Amino acid sequence: MPSEDLKKHAQDVLSILGNDTKKSVNIDDIKGQLERFLEYGVPINQAKQTILKKYAGSNAYVSSTLERTKLSDLESDMRSVKIVAQVITINPKEITVKGEPRQIFYGILRDETGSVSFTSWHDIKVQNGDVVEIANAYTNEWQGTVQLNIGNRTQVEVKDDDALPKEAFEPKKCTIEELQPTMGAIDLSAIILEIDDKQVEVDGEKKKVFSGILGDSTGKAPFSAWYDFKLKKHDTIQIKGGYIRSWKGIPQITFDEKATVSKIKKDAIKVDDVPRRTVKMYEIEEHPGLYDIQVEGRIIEIQRGSGFILRCPQCNRMIRDNQCREHGTVDGIIDFRIKCIVDDGTGTLSTTFNKDLSEELLGKPELELKEMDPKALSDTIKDALFGKTVQLNGNTVHDQFGTTCITNTVSFVDQDTEEEANKLMKELEGDM
Ligand SMILES: [Zn+2]
Repeated sequence: MPSEDLKKHAQDVLSILGNDTKKSVNIDDIKGQLERFLEYGVPINQAKQTILKKYAGSNAYVSSTLERTKLSDLESDMRSVKIVAQVITINPKEITVKGEPRQIFYGILRDETGSVSFTSWHDIKVQNGDVVEIANAYTNEWQGTVQLNIGNRTQVEVKDDDALPKEAFEPKKCTIEELQPTMGAIDLSAIILEIDDKQVEVDGEKKKVFSGILGDSTGKAPFSAWYDFKLKKHDTIQIKGGYIRSWKGIPQITFDEKATVSKIKKDAIKVDDVPRRTVKMYEIEEHPGLYDIQVEGRIIEIQRGSGFILRCPQCNRMIRDNQCREHGTVDGIIDFRIKCIVDDGTGTLSTTFNKDLSEELLGKPELELKEMDPKALSDTIKDALFGKTVQLNGNTVHDQFGTTCITNTVSFVDQDTEEEANKLMKELEGDM
């Protein structure tokens, strides 16, 4: 960093130290200390803060010197960040901490560069649409995305709208393939492939939510509308001002009465225009979640825990010795599954085939499988699946535990299509 810049930062630090402290330290001291921090690779903001803490001892006004971090620059495990953003949603939630019920608040913030989910450990008394300055917050990672945390030492202040540049409020034109939980307001045209409504309770108030699936020429995505836009199946709509939430890592389009939703008659999208995205494993690994994709690969491992298992009748968790860790002693319900690893040369994923998919793949009904001894059963599974190439359809999740496909349908891919084609060609030639 040029000496001039360093001096400015040192001046910054000095300017907010009280007069008493100023007597014991001068600008060259601070500059020297900053220099040393930088030599050790400490980011400038953190270095300034550490020096402030050393002299001022308090966190309260430390954050005021920090430069604002844009939401797209947030990374996990940042301490004391300051942001300016608009509150997109904020909702209370009851959780249990060390056996005690506690109310927290969670929601989404956005600025001109993107959006971020946040959790607050106390009521920050802001509303949807407010522009806020949040100082001394910290970040962590949850299911592969960065989260902002508002703790006891975080300051939240409501600002005027012009604290954010105008483009922060302007929807960005995008396609379904481009959707990401970190983007701000969107401008998206898509066809409604499925829609359903249900009653939910939000803050003790009954609300109707319309949810379903949207599609365009790049893929499909789930959506939920918190307002009755009179949407119908196969309508093509343009949503301006909706935003993206992460639902199990998968981008979900969310919009309410603040969004503008119009129906498109001309250039309407047809159902046939919406493809099922075919992806490679490495692409799956690049996204926290993908919705309704198709991927092909070879089963390289049948995992332990495949076969018959018992589930808790109340929570569906797998149980042992009729003991559920949530519900105590229960009468387990018998279930069947196959867990395996699938590889396509560019990456791997793990997936579980439920009873129906397993029966289909093994070509045997559950009753027949039940009569086998464990060895015969595991041989049957291995013979039918190991080394076989399968095509999976489903949603994928990529997080610290690896890549998982929640498979909806599965089928074997005939690896000998080329050989078969040759055979067919020969037969046809023989006929001539
Ligand atoms: Zn249970």
